[in-house]
Amino acid sequence: MIPGLEPIVFSILMWLSNVGGFSHDWMENDNKPKVSLVTQEELRILYCPNHIPTCNIGAGYDGDGTLILGMEDPKNVTLTPEEIGTLVHELVHHLQSLNEKNLDNSKPIRIKNIVQQYVTAEYEAYLYEAVYLENFYGIITPEEDITNRVYCSVKFSISQITNEYIPDNICDDIE
Ligand SMILES: [Zn+2]
Repeated sequence: MIPGLEPIVFSILMWLSNVGGFSHDWMENDNKPKVSLVTQEELRILYCPNHIPTCNIGAGYDGDGTLILGMEDPKNVTLTPEEIGTLVHELVHHLQSLNEKNLDNSKPIRIKNIVQQYVTAEYEAYLYEAVYLENFYGIITPEEDITNRVYCSVKFSISQITNEYIPDNICDDIE
């Protein structure tokens, strides 16, 4: 991991485990997340190659331990509160993915279940992001913003599966 980022990543994970009740599995060496800082443009190329001009993605999680954050300046590891919020969000996805490894995957997968899973996962991630920003930075996120972001994020995930066009006025900062 990028050296300057380790303390903040560690303290967010601690907070999520201690306050949020997530398991401490991330402390095992194999479960520590990797963080990659890229430019917004690189992130767009990575996540929405067919929709670059209309894609407002802010960060991504590869589902397997790597968080990818889109930054104004990837060489500057001093994160803004907004970027910290995004980091909290992606770390929640990391903890969710560690937790999923312990679930029973033998049941058949249905699209309806996938959508339900996305909604639950995104709501949880946006909620912890909001609570963290309020606790540590006094930044209040209105509840309808959380609902809108969940909607945008889930819509984006579905469009990734179905290869749909992403309308440009639907979402800002998909995480
Ligand atoms: Zn997310």
